[in-house]
Amino acid sequence: MNILERYHAMEYGPAPEARNEADAWLAGRDFSKALFIGGAWKAAGGGKTFDTSEPSSGKLLAKVSDANAADIDAAVAAAAKALPKWSASSGYQRAKVLYAIGRAMQRHQRLFAVLETIDNGKPIRESRDIDVPLAIRHFIHHAGWAQALDRDFPGQKGVGVVGQIIPWNFPLLMLAWKIAPALAAGCTVVLKPAEFTPLTAILFAEICERAGVPKGVVNIMQGGPDAGAAIVNHPGIQKIAFTGSSEVGKIIRKATAGSGKKLSLELGGKSAFIVFEDADLDSAVEGLVDGIWFNQGQVCCAGSRLLVQEGIADALIAKVKTRMSRLRVGSPLDKNTDIGPLVDLTQLDRVKGLIAEGARQGAVCWQPDATLPSSGYYHLPTLATGVSPANILAQEEVFGPVLATMTFRNTEEAIELANNTRYGLAASVWSENVNLALHVAPQLKAGVVWVNGTNMFDAACGFGGYRESGFGREGGREGMFEYLAAKLPLGPIIKPATSSVQPVEQADGVAIDRTAKLFIGGKQVRPDGNYSLAVATAKGKLAGEVGLGSRKDIRDAVSAARACKSWPEATAYNRSQVLYYLAENLSGRSEEFAARLTELTGANAKAARDEVELSVERLFLYAGLADKFEGRVHQPPARAVTLALHEPVGVVGIVAPDNQPLLGFISLVAPALAMGNTVVAVPSERYPLLATDLYQVIEYSDVPAGAVNIVTGRTAELAGVLAKHDDVDGLWLVADADTCAKAEAESIGNLKRVWSGNGRSLDWASEEAAGDVFLRRAIEVKNVWVPYGD
Ligand code: NAD
Repeated sequence: MNILERYHAMEYGPAPEARNEADAWLAGRDFSKALFIGGAWKAAGGGKTFDTSEPSSGKLLAKVSDANAADIDAAVAAAAKALPKWSASSGYQRAKVLYAIGRAMQRHQRLFAVLETIDNGKPIRESRDIDVPLAIRHFIHHAGWAQALDRDFPGQKGVGVVGQIIPWNFPLLMLAWKIAPALAAGCTVVLKPAEFTPLTAILFAEICERAGVPKGVVNIMQGGPDAGAAIVNHPGIQKIAFTGSSEVGKIIRKATAGSGKKLSLELGGKSAFIVFEDADLDSAVEGLVDGIWFNQGQVCCAGSRLLVQEGIADALIAKVKTRMSRLRVGSPLDKNTDIGPLVDLTQLDRVKGLIAEGARQGAVCWQPDATLPSSGYYHLPTLATGVSPANILAQEEVFGPVLATMTFRNTEEAIELANNTRYGLAASVWSENVNLALHVAPQLKAGVVWVNGTNMFDAACGFGGYRESGFGREGGREGMFEYLAAKLPLGPIIKPATSSVQPVEQADGVAIDRTAKLFIGGKQVRPDGNYSLAVATAKGKLAGEVGLGSRKDIRDAVSAARACKSWPEATAYNRSQVLYYLAENLSGRSEEFAARLTELTGANAKAARDEVELSVERLFLYAGLADKFEGRVHQPPARAVTLALHEPVGVVGIVAPDNQPLLGFISLVAPALAMGNTVVAVPSERYPLLATDLYQVIEYSDVPAGAVNIVTGRTAELAGVLAKHDDVDGLWLVADADTCAKAEAESIGNLKRVWSGNGRSLDWASEEAAGDVFLRRAIEVKNVWVPYGD
């Protein structure tokens, strides 16, 4: 008998990845009672079920309870009931529960992996080696955060009951990303998996029962968009955490506007995979296989746009094609399979449709010569070349195994092409020159950048997007903040401005005409409409007039803010000095500002002096923090360091309050500037002269033109223009409730980060109205992964 004969004659036992255990689990469960509410298994109130089937065959796996609004009510009630005890439990108690979950999952690791593969279609190698171990790591890592809460997040408390909605592409991993930080923070949760992939969440709920999670702390609801919407709109929920498409993310942003719910959105992407000519091409090709064909390309951060430097394009494409020809497409339960089926027929049809449209628009789509299994939702890996930047394959998230290729000539062009997308989730940079890679990484508008790598994740490193890829981070410190809230010193409730009474009589001593203009691009300019707004003294007389800013003025101000590159690119030390100088110059004119405060607000002399003094102090504070609120370095369990860089949000619109009008204005503008943002500020409608008096102070203080722009006028109107402007990246609103709610709803165009007081101002004199809470709003955390070793 030769070796080959021996090999064929050998008897094999079942592989650990065999489906027997999973099938036994499926057969032994009653899926008509699949809602896990308050620690009990319930049928859906309406008795409805939905089908979940196996993507590799199309066969039905289970008919699962489909929750209706009343079921969601019950789950929220259970979570609310469990909240007081859970949030009051010690960090140690919560840590023990999180650790127990992680350990119990470890004991059933293989079942989780096989079940995930059966339900989702992803290759077993991925569910076994990536999804499940990372999910477990998330729980064990967050056990630590539960105990470190007081130490690392002083003054912060869990937000309360949390509604969580997740997609089907990483069902268990997304569940872990959601539930682990929420439990660590002391929140209770109502989570809804996606309707294509309900199974591992059900197994997870069983784990919660075994791991001693108190009843009601974790509630798992099954269903589709209606159940999701019932969670989003439920008044008993304090935070919504959503992962899914940008389209649904926008619906949720709109639905939660004005509700005061905290919101994090992890949405789609169109991530660039940039290969420079000095890259190690063989490594880049392997990276690409992981980047775009991992999970059949159904990955939010898939490197779906290959940008390759011209000189190496032909060589790289040839290597990619050779590699693609060797990818094995087939049963996801086979350990040798690289590419399994897509999750559902609808998804398969969508991918085919997008490829056809891409080809119609001029792309050349190539596929290896391979035979697909006769049943199931399989699709061959596809390479599109000749893709123009406007081609649908370069712009739309395909969410399938399709790579769109473009070439670039130099670094600037690579960055421009990479950023030519409405998304901003991730990017990969391939170059043997680490200087070049680290020069490019900060210029990419993406929440995660992998240097010479791709799809690296860890529980200690934040993950999340810029732009329409959503806001908020999951994982690490940043992720914990999404489930915590600081107690802010509340100020007055803000009423909508009334503009009926117009003072006409000049106040005593106001002899010369004093019409303040707008401050745009470092210049004082007349408002476009050539209208003015009269400003009254505390006694109702005319104190002066300011320009009545309009839509056009806001647009000009946003352009000026966007054009100002020197401020975001300045060193933090440089920004710090400018802010100190601003403080110094304000201090030099403190009597004048105090008199203005008294004249306009009626504050007594001491209160006015105090407000000016505190404003100077606050500028000093942010000048000092400009070069101290820095990022971190993470050391994930991989041969890589992760640089969590603090980057400015971009152009930030600020709508400032009436109460403490100078201090309130400075308390908002200064932290935004300190972190390198450029600002379009709308000062208090009632007391705008305090901001217009600042023009000269700003002009003397070496603030570059366009870094601060001030547009006076009607708060509600200007807030609306800022909210709808797609080149504004962040919007901070201290305005009446209606203006805040409308602006939140209108912010969906580019999903700008909105921070609103929901109709409530702060007591700006309080120490808690300054510091990290504000600085955190002024930054995006970008995680740059830098591997090391040969
Ligand atoms: P989807 O937006 O269609 O659905 C996501 C979830 O939202 C599902 O549970 C669904 O039932 C629910 N849902 C649908 N409509 C809803 C509504 N109106 N109100 C409330 N809930 C609703 O997305 P999908 O097709 O399941 O997942 C794919 C998308 O998820 C892709 O765009 C992908 O990029 C994104 N994704 C993002 C990340 C990330 O971290 N950024 C991670 C994974 C997936």
